[in-house]
Amino acid sequence: MKTEKVEVLPYQKSWSEDFKKISEEIYEVLGELLLAIEHVGSTAVVGLSAKPIIDIDLVVSDERDLKEAISKLERAGYQHEGDLGIPGRHAFAYQGKEHLQTHHLYLLCQNADELRRHKAFRDFLRHHPKEVLEYSKVKEIAAKAYLDDIESYMKAKSDIIEKIYKEIDKMSENTVVDITIIGGGPVGLWTAFYAGLRGMKVKIIESLSELGGQPAVLYPEKKIYDIPAYPVITGAELTENLVEQLKRFEATTEICLKEEVLTFEKNEDIFTIETSKGQHQSKSIIIACGNGAFSPRQIGLDNEDEFADNNLFYNVHKLDQFAGKKVVIAGGGDSAVDWANHLDGIAESVTLIHRRDAFRAHEHSVEELKASNVNILTPYVPLELTGDNGFAKSLKVQKVKSEETLDLEVDALIVSFGFSTNNKNLKNWNVDYKRSSIHVSPRFETSLEGVYAVGDAADYDGKVDLIATGFGEAPTAVNQAINYIYPDSDNRAVHSTSLIDE
Ligand SMILES: Cc1cc2nc3c(=O)[nH]c(=O)nc-3n(C[C@H](O)[C@H](O)[C@H](O)COP(=O)(O)OP(=O)(O)OC[C@H]3O[C@@H](n4cnc5c(N)ncnc54)[C@H](O)[C@@H]3O)c2cc1C
Repeated sequence: MKTEKVEVLPYQKSWSEDFKKISEEIYEVLGELLLAIEHVGSTAVVGLSAKPIIDIDLVVSDERDLKEAISKLERAGYQHEGDLGIPGRHAFAYQGKEHLQTHHLYLLCQNADELRRHKAFRDFLRHHPKEVLEYSKVKEIAAKAYLDDIESYMKAKSDIIEKIYKEIDKMSENTVVDITIIGGGPVGLWTAFYAGLRGMKVKIIESLSELGGQPAVLYPEKKIYDIPAYPVITGAELTENLVEQLKRFEATTEICLKEEVLTFEKNEDIFTIETSKGQHQSKSIIIACGNGAFSPRQIGLDNEDEFADNNLFYNVHKLDQFAGKKVVIAGGGDSAVDWANHLDGIAESVTLIHRRDAFRAHEHSVEELKASNVNILTPYVPLELTGDNGFAKSLKVQKVKSEETLDLEVDALIVSFGFSTNNKNLKNWNVDYKRSSIHVSPRFETSLEGVYAVGDAADYDGKVDLIATGFGEAPTAVNQAINYIYPDSDNRAVHSTSLIDE
């Protein structure tokens, strides 16, 4: 499948669209067999000059799925070419796909070394603009020198590729943490604190753009009465306190937000964790993923991600951040109505749009809303969001069953459609589990050595899904993880006063 003519172009924005188009067709063919479709190679790196060929890695779970995927791809017009000398990577040729940009299609199992290499290379370049420039230059010069000689072109760029891989190896040696915690809910945050207290280098990986899990996302205003030493505390206050408490160890705790853990695998005592953004390395893992990864239900407009977390929000923490602003809220449930009521008088203006005339909120909140200055637009649906430099400026809405549209000026847009959870990743983690709960031993060990589970994610006889339960589990799990990483460590209970020097 090697191309003979060498053509290197400056980075084209259209490559990302081309990738999407090809992916959509492939998804039609392979559907649920696919764990991921990865855009790899140079066209996947913004700013990098490349041959205009989209490299795609199709990722499946295991050899059985791989066989099924090969026969489905063959039925869809792709010819299986075998591994072409790279073990674990299946290449495909094709004819008659002129409607798609030229592409190289590879099929790999999730644990294939070649997949790891491709992603590491791409992710490194995505975060290193200097190397992108350098690599672009090398390619452009080599392409001019060896227009008809692909072998010499490949040879000319081999040194810089080797240099980049060396950098990647060096980085991963320096960045292996002791404990990676999957999930930044209350139990994950407390686990990170306790691991910090025991001197561990810690990483939290959380799928949302905020920490706090269920109390922060599902019931920030609700009063909680069963947290020890707090007669009463709201979900938002509990989150704030846990984050504040963890700050003591901020030098040794890395927090990765908007990143979902997909798979992990152990190689020579080090776990490589694959996420929606890249890879991490860790000596042990504590799963604190609750009922699964949260993601906000989006408003469903094309360019929504461009504005998210700039002035488009899915959750509200501090009302005063909206002071003096024109706020538009989309939604019809309790949160949407409560936020509209709370912001009336703080924001310059508040407009609430909902696709039905009736709200699904407490009666007294709806009464309060109707008596307020909030501009209520029902039944309206969002149609188009426009803005620049990552900030939304205007939202076009359309009246249901009519052609009537309105343009709303937007300083801040709050999308209050709730959150969904998914625990589909659990099946790829090689731990014993049932539904969304992982079986653990009395030491919170899972069936995979070096991997522990706590909080709502952990299941054992008599388990009660409460925050206090998870808080109690964390110190034991952390101690076990330390003992696993450093077998000579003293595993007796240590009191915090002897660990903190003030
Ligand atoms: C309405 C309601 C009221 C409640 N009231 C109380 C109460 O009064 N008292 C009480 O003790 N408990 C209460 N609970 C239960 C309590 O909220 C849970 O027991 C607690 O949140 C469990 O904490 P956790 O950290 O284990 O999980 P979660 O709070 O669920 O946090 C898990 C985090 O992990 C993240 N995550 C999951 N998978 C991934 C992944 N693959 N990659 C990256 N991130 C991931 C999620 O996005 C989430 O942020 C209530 C629950 C609900 C729904």
